[in-house]
This record gives sequence, structure tokens and C-alpha cells, in this order.
Amino acid sequence: MKTLSLNEWERKYITGHIERYDQMKIINSIRQIKSFNTIGEIKDKPGFTLIDQALRIGAWAGVWLDFLDTSKPNPPSESEQIAQILSGSRSVRPFLVYRAPDNAKCTVADPSILSTIVKKVAALYGADIVGICRLDRRWLYSPIPNSSQPDREARDVPEECQYAIVLGVEMDYQLVKYYPTYIDVTAPPLGYSRLAFTSKLLSAFITVLGKRAINCATNQVALYQPLAMQAGLGEIGRNGVVITPRFGPRVRFSTILTDLTLIPDSPIEFGVTEFCGVCRKCADMCPSHSIPRGERSSEPAGELNNKGTLKWQVNTETCRIYWAKNNRDCGTCISVCPYNKVSTWQHRTVQWLTDHARWADRFFVKMDNLFGYGKPRKAVNFWEEWEPNQPGRNKHIW
Ligand code: SF4
Ligand code: SF4
Repeated sequence: MKTLSLNEWERKYITGHIERYDQMKIINSIRQIKSFNTIGEIKDKPGFTLIDQALRIGAWAGVWLDFLDTSKPNPPSESEQIAQILSGSRSVRPFLVYRAPDNAKCTVADPSILSTIVKKVAALYGADIVGICRLDRRWLYSPIPNSSQPDREARDVPEECQYAIVLGVEMDYQLVKYYPTYIDVTAPPLGYSRLAFTSKLLSAFITVLGKRAINCATNQVALYQPLAMQAGLGEIGRNGVVITPRFGPRVRFSTILTDLTLIPDSPIEFGVTEFCGVCRKCADMCPSHSIPRGERSSEPAGELNNKGTLKWQVNTETCRIYWAKNNRDCGTCISVCPYNKVSTWQHRTVQWLTDHARWADRFFVKMDNLFGYGKPRKAVNFWEEWEPNQPGRNKHIW
């Protein structure tokens, strides 16, 4: 693995001026897809039964935590009302509205030590990987008025917030193999539920230090992919997902924007761009043909893509239409990816070789297929054979 300076990273991925992404494009496109309902029905079919749906809906439940967060620039009025009610409660008020006394100062001033502390605390609160970058404001969504308060002027992220802390949590390795069912699509919302919890706790920690923390747990404030890359957590793959050295594409991310002065990490490179150049497994398996088979390009694949970046341009619109038609989200491009492995010495060796021996990339793609990696498992056996991961074990992230 090689670390890159920000200039080297810029040369690899940026081809022109980048407008801040207009989040209304996504909101409007979802509104336009009239049948957009990914809840799906209960069926008499393995992977879609009541117990499979219960597993999936349970995984979503923690995401509500994020909807109650009022640290974002334009929180919904409902969130603000709930925060007000809670802060009036005698038992929780002292913790919810805690402000350190003016004369209490954080005894740690060194940004390098603070960065290590922030990463350790993030790990304690549940993150599996953590990175830090300077906040590059090109990745913030352009400010939009809140739908529940359209007459209120849209607020932006304050200029003082100069850093982004990017948190990642691993998705269960076994769950994602049971695609395409309700079982594999349990893994992403479970990641977001865990992130809603972890981000909320870490934001509270930073706030008590007297600093700002804008908690972007469900990524409604900024594009997380470039921030995760600039924070040194991975490289973007053909499937449009950030591929990490430890968990491959099997990670969910969130960010906290802060004015705490920290030391940024460097972007990394470990052969993903070159390996994706010969692999194409996600493109071949994508049911909506939304992933290109050709070279990286800076030509947007559709209305929902932003200009100015060099990458494989996944057509988000056709992908979402597929979700809508099937009343279910989809994670096939994560499940089939050869980087989606558990960290055994054999897999670490192959990963090292894909980073250092370019000539072997085609061979490893063939071997991946030969060993049957990325093939769906039969949902009919799921409840008997499934052993959940133990999230949060074996952390060495600072
Ligand atoms: S989520 Fe599914 S439909 Fe969308 S790009 Fe990935 S594989 Fe294709
Ligand atoms: S499946 Fe292959 S081409 Fe697609 S992201 Fe993974 S390594 Fe890259």
C-alpha cells in the first residue's frame, strides 16, 4: 500500500471544476420513480419470509436515531421539537444539554495526540475504521431548504468546520452472501444503525470539549466517498463503492464535520484501480447493467452523476429504478467483489500480490471465480448455517 499526497490524489481522480452536488437531484429522481418502495412483500420463499423481513427491518431501527439529530445545518422541525421536549425532561436534561463550564479547558492541545484520542474513542463507541481529512468543501451538498420548513433560509456548514472525521463499520460477511434477498440487504441498514449510534456518541464527546460536531451519520450533508478516500480509508472501485484494505467494499461510512484541529491522514492506493480494470465482476453481475465495463471516464453516466471526477461512472438512476421495480434494495455489486473477503493470511497474501504484481490480476480474477467466491448462497439454509460476525473485534485503527 502506498500513501498519496493530496495533489497526487487530485491528479488521479479530478479532471475539472466540481460544482457542489445538488441533493435535490436525488430527492426529485426518487419522487419521479412512482413505485419507489423498497420494503417489499412477505413471500412464501426462502429469503423473503416474515422472519427474513424481521431481520432486515430490525436492522433499520437505529437509523431513526440520526433523524432526531439536530446538529446538521437544516434539521427537520420534527427533530427540533423532539430535542426540545427531551431537553425539558429533568432526568435526561443534564446530559443532553451539557456544556462544560467556561473555565474548563481541554488539557490536550496537540492536534496529533487529539487525533489519536478521537480515533480511540471512535473505536470504543463502535467504529471499525476511522480516518481524518481536511474538509474539502467541494464534497458538501449545495445547501437546500428543509422540506418541512421551505420558507426558512437554507443554512450551510460553517466555515470554521475545517475537518472531517470519517467513520466506517464492517458489514456482516455472511449476510451479504445471501443475495438477492431481504437477508443481504439487512447488512447496509445495520451498518447505518450502528453508525447513527457511534456518530452520535462521538459528536457528543467533541461537543463536551467545547467544539462543534456536525453529525452526518446518514450522509445527508456531504458525499462520503471522496471524504473517505481523502481520509485514507480506501480507493473507489468500478462498482462506485469505496474499497477498504481490511473489509473490501463491505463497509458503511459516515462523517462528523468539526472545528476541532486535527491531523489529516493521507489518501492511499493499494492496486484497486488497476485490479478493477481487469476484473469487471460487478459489471457482469449487476442486474440493471448500471456499472460500466469499459475504462474510467469523466463523462457522467446520467443526470445524477457529478462532473469533474475520473472514475467508473455508475448509472445511479437505472440502479434505483431496478430497486423500485423489485421493491427491494440491492447489494449484488458488493457481494460479488473479490475484495469482499475475511482477513485470513491467504487472502491478505493475495491482496498484497494484487497490490504488487500487476501481471497476476487476471489470474486472481480467474481463481476467484474458480473457488466460487461471490456466488449467492441458498437462503433456504440461512437460519441453520448462519453465524454472525462479532462486530468490533480486533481493532487496530490508530
Ligand atoms: S446496487 Fe445492484 S443494481 Fe445497483 S449498481 Fe449495484 S448491482 Fe447494480
Ligand atoms: S467486482 Fe471487481 S471490478 Fe467490481 S469493484 Fe470489485 S474488484 Fe472492482
